[in-house]
Amino acid sequence: MGFQERYDRVLAELAACCAQAGRDPREVRVVAVSKTVGADAIFRAIEAGAHDFGENRPDSLLEKAARFPEQTWHFIGNIQSRRIPDIVRCSTLVHSLFQERHVAKLEAAAVCAGKVQDVLLEVNVSGEASKGGLAPEDAPAMLAHCAAFPHVRVRGLMTMAPQGDRAAARECFEGLARLHDELRVRLDGERAAQFNELSMGMSEDWREAVSAGATIVRIGRALFDDAFDEDPRP
Ligand SMILES: *Cc1c(COP(=O)(O)O)cnc(C)c1O
Repeated sequence: MGFQERYDRVLAELAACCAQAGRDPREVRVVAVSKTVGADAIFRAIEAGAHDFGENRPDSLLEKAARFPEQTWHFIGNIQSRRIPDIVRCSTLVHSLFQERHVAKLEAAAVCAGKVQDVLLEVNVSGEASKGGLAPEDAPAMLAHCAAFPHVRVRGLMTMAPQGDRAAARECFEGLARLHDELRVRLDGERAAQFNELSMGMSEDWREAVSAGATIVRIGRALFDDAFDEDPRP
């Protein structure tokens, strides 16, 4: 099966999941996580209709965004201070902001690039020590901190679920959705309206994420990897 078939299958399943959840499939964007593939595969993905791509390393982001500048690029990796100018130059949306000290640097880079940088706050809902992200209880203070920087616009939240356990993944996604609701009511009108994205769900758990309200799913292997073989679903 090629990218086209896998992509079409994901879109069809996405439509079915949305129907079941009473959601409009147009509310959910599929980001094709291209971090493990080269330009040829991205070219085929574009031909198949994909236009949102996710990268987790600044070098690959730079290279691929330069090669395919018409596409929408998402930065989903670990942010390092010194790479912030590169990340800002190439990313439409940065999914992985959680350190306060990065906000002023994002602001400066965005001013320099003549843009407002859209970002998501990464939250460690599951509390696993191996994961980055804000503790949920620290999210309000981070959101308040970001409000002082006019070129950094917080568009919502992102999380990564524990792997290999769909029930735990579902709980994690529902927790992020609840936190999103709690934070949104604290924001004023315009900010609240823009705070409308929930980036959650990957190859193995994106269906659970869509049921819980994801507006962005980040799918790598299930789109790009021929060998990706899902667990039999219940
Ligand atoms: C790699 C990655 C994904 C995609 O993972 P798959 O399991 O291949 O779908 C999603 N989000 C982040 C942050 C990633 O690093």
